[in-house]
Amino acid sequence: MKIMPNRMDRGFYKYQQEFEQKAIDVLRSGWYVLGKEVAAFEKEFAAFSGAEDCVGLASGLDALWLAFRVLGIGAGDEVIVQGNTYIASVMGITINNAIPIFVEPDEHFGMDVSRIEEKITSRTKAILAVHLYGMPCDMTPIVELCRKHHLFLVEDCAQSHGALYHGKMTGTFGDVGCFSFYPSKNLGAFGDGGAVIVKDSALAQTFRMYRNYGSEKRYYNKVVGANSRLDELQAGLLRIRLQHIQEITEERRAIATYYSENIKNPLLKLPELIEGTDGVWHQYVVRCEERDRLAETLSNQEIGTIIHYPIPPHLSEAYQYLGYQKGDLPITEHLADTVLSLPIYNGMTREEQDTVIQAVNGFT
Ligand SMILES: *Cc1c(COP(=O)(O)O)cnc(C)c1O
Repeated sequence: MKIMPNRMDRGFYKYQQEFEQKAIDVLRSGWYVLGKEVAAFEKEFAAFSGAEDCVGLASGLDALWLAFRVLGIGAGDEVIVQGNTYIASVMGITINNAIPIFVEPDEHFGMDVSRIEEKITSRTKAILAVHLYGMPCDMTPIVELCRKHHLFLVEDCAQSHGALYHGKMTGTFGDVGCFSFYPSKNLGAFGDGGAVIVKDSALAQTFRMYRNYGSEKRYYNKVVGANSRLDELQAGLLRIRLQHIQEITEERRAIATYYSENIKNPLLKLPELIEGTDGVWHQYVVRCEERDRLAETLSNQEIGTIIHYPIPPHLSEAYQYLGYQKGDLPITEHLADTVLSLPIYNGMTREEQDTVIQAVNGFT
């Protein structure tokens, strides 16, 4: 049995009729950008998240860089972020000419809160918490540090739609929660999409201005903005997906639980959530000192896996200019060498899960 690391077809076919009907409705409406689907999605996603407002954007990266832009973070300002993240988190900072200051992660793949304060300087303007793999960061101490040092708090929720920290949605702890609706995300569109959620409706209006060339009134431009509009088709399709998000999340939790209960191999370390959090299992990431051999063993049995991520941002070619060397973030770098994401997707059959478990348990 061939098992892909991820697949999106099953998530489509499960609600095929609803998606197709919505696509036809939008196509026939004659209105394709910033219309009633976007407005409705924004309202529904804000309500789902427990946020005051939501602004639909063109991607998760746009959500991140616009967040720092709108908060006034720019050249010379420092933003604290964990070293082990997708490079988009860091690009959101550096597109604004701000400087990422990397903090090592804890055992749960989130920012190690005990290492934040030593990184705060007079130039620090914000903390970017990334709920990587759908596993929430330890938000209480992060919120406290932001209050104490008067820092903005931005959350990268591109992998954590619906994840809870002590019953509260990720994305609602700070100033801006940034989301991606890239097709493979838990709340996935059928193309690119993104959004921010905020608790301040004035801030939401600023995002609405920035996403549309910096204009509130057509052809009157207040700031140099962006073209970063979520389109009507994606917004309409996301509304369908959002209606099923509970089911989507429960299914992923069930797979993760089944893996955690049945994978028994001393060569592997399984992912564990922080107490009091409900993860949404965007990925199920195991650690193994012989990761490459594990991946190869699984691949030989036609089980696909992915490494999220093989090169940490500080060592990426794009960030050579920051001047980091191998060894500067040993924990982050060790994770990059040892993490492996096992297949997890909506519509994954029990038989497929058992095949993965058997292959992993057979790795010696
Ligand atoms: C996917 C992702 C992004 C970027 O989202 P796009 O919509 O692809 O621009 C940012 N941060 C994290 C952690 C992601 O996983």
